[in-house]
Amino acid sequence: MSYLSTLQGMSLEQIRSVIEIIQQSSETYMFILDLTVDTYMVAEKATKRFPFPSTVIENCSETLKSVVYPSDYDLLSAELEECRSGEKDIHALEYRWLDRMGRVVWISCKGTVVTGTEGHRLLIGSVSELGKKAKADNITGLRREVRLRLNMESILRDRPESVRYLMRIGIDNFKEINEKEGVEAGDEVLRELAECIIKIVGEGVDVYRLVADEFMIVDTLKNSEKRPCDIYRQIQQAIASMVKNKEYSRFYTVSAGVLEEGFADRTVEELMRFTEFALNEAKRNGRNQVVAFDRAAFDVYLERLNIRKLLRQDVSHDFRGFEVYYQPIVSAEGYRLIGAEALLRWKSEKFGNVSPAVFIPILEESGLIIPVGQYVLWEAAKTCKRWKAYIPEFHINVNLSYVQLYKSDLMRDVERCIQEVGIEPESLVLELTESGYIESDDRIKELFKDLKSRNIDLALDDFGTGYSNMRYLKEIDARTVKIDRTFVVQALKNEYDYNIISHIIDMVHSLGSVVCMEGIEEKEELSKMMATKPDMIQGYYFGKPAPAGQFEEQFLRATDSP
Ligand code: C2E
Ligand code: MG
Ligand code: MG
Repeated sequence: MSYLSTLQGMSLEQIRSVIEIIQQSSETYMFILDLTVDTYMVAEKATKRFPFPSTVIENCSETLKSVVYPSDYDLLSAELEECRSGEKDIHALEYRWLDRMGRVVWISCKGTVVTGTEGHRLLIGSVSELGKKAKADNITGLRREVRLRLNMESILRDRPESVRYLMRIGIDNFKEINEKEGVEAGDEVLRELAECIIKIVGEGVDVYRLVADEFMIVDTLKNSEKRPCDIYRQIQQAIASMVKNKEYSRFYTVSAGVLEEGFADRTVEELMRFTEFALNEAKRNGRNQVVAFDRAAFDVYLERLNIRKLLRQDVSHDFRGFEVYYQPIVSAEGYRLIGAEALLRWKSEKFGNVSPAVFIPILEESGLIIPVGQYVLWEAAKTCKRWKAYIPEFHINVNLSYVQLYKSDLMRDVERCIQEVGIEPESLVLELTESGYIESDDRIKELFKDLKSRNIDLALDDFGTGYSNMRYLKEIDARTVKIDRTFVVQALKNEYDYNIISHIIDMVHSLGSVVCMEGIEEKEELSKMMATKPDMIQGYYFGKPAPAGQFEEQFLRATDSP
């Protein structure tokens, strides 16, 4: 697949022509899947053997339902979602298709994601029929995934209780070895590791080579005493000493995912997915370790994938299900309404109202926070413009994610928004959560300067929850510090924290900035905290976040309109 890197940055049409040429002399079915717009382009010969309606298929997720074996569809769908979101750039999966006669065909699909000229994520690769392939691997001499699946199917059917454990082992930096030292070096590592695993697991325990750099150990030995964690440690140590013996000329480590129970009533597909998840967890936790499959963590992961898919669908349907709520911000002097914070809400048919604490991180991870952040900015600016008719000095606070800072042209978006909506820059306050790394990034510092020079104020959000740093306040030149509710709650409970808040507020004032105290719920809380001299208050006591119409009714129509 190394030729794929040369396709980076080519237009879709150019890529198609290259692929058509390669396809003529290939046994496989080549394809391009435009993940961004869900369009699939497949070689003509694939349409003859499989029920594809044409060589170019729009809305491919739907069409694939009639080509992919039904119980493998979710597996594929989850994998493609990972490629779409950028979590994976390599796709390698063995699963089943149905041919035009409805017969099951095992296929191996391999591909790489490249970015096309229009910024679309394109998965380019090929599908080969496993039935036409050898079931053993020439590099390691081990049996391959097709054989593993066939064997596991019969074990699960006839004697599921005999399975002691499955362990999926992956090389942590295999791609790097292949890229830096060449494919031969990669093959050598695979061979060396295969030998090492076989020797350690001993007679009677099965070892298979899976796609790319992964192996599977299947232990069905009746009187086996060896525990999978011990096996893993032995493999880990054996590799470490091999690496040392070669004087660190080639360094690698392995991670593993283990499944030790719950084999009855499971399909092979599920077991493959469970071990894959455990292995990925081991890699996510920092690699070079073994992780046991955890059903609860897997369910959370699936739910997040599901939410991400629904969020993506809602974003592409004109922000269906999203709404911006507004919470009043009052001045500490006379408790006058002076502004509002825009807070995003999302309701899905399947999950109902989902908390921002759940969906905002998913939007961030998937990059969807960029379009959604623009939506919030525009909505909030338009609302602010309407409300300034009631209160001329009204300002609107909009939360920004660090992803927007790093991965989008925020300055351009803010400028455009201000111009198109027609509000004064002074009416907009951008809220940023403190985080250590922003501080050291020159590009971000430039952005803060640009915003300041345009008279757009910054507020330092969530102060007191983690990385609270006065230097940071100076660095981003924030006009406002927002003290988080968790800090306020602590201060209400103990004098020490109360005194700290009091001192922080003095310090903020001496730096020429102002303080907004968040999370005041009760009258008593208000009177106690007022003695610390905040400048603004935001909390349920003055109003909960509400839809624009309700906010207007409750807080603005009651005041005199000009
Ligand atoms: P935040 O920016 O610190 O927003 C204040 C949060 O405190 C809001 O939670 C608000 O409902 C809650 N709150 C305000 N007063 C009280 C009170 O008296 N008692 C209690 N218990 N809570 C109070 P919410 O709306 O759930 O939002 C949570 C976080 O999600 C926000 O924290 C913000 O970090 C993030 N968020 C919300 N909307 C957006 C958005 O449009 N973009 C980005 N990037 N993040 C957002
Ligand atoms: Mg905020
Ligand atoms: Mg806050």
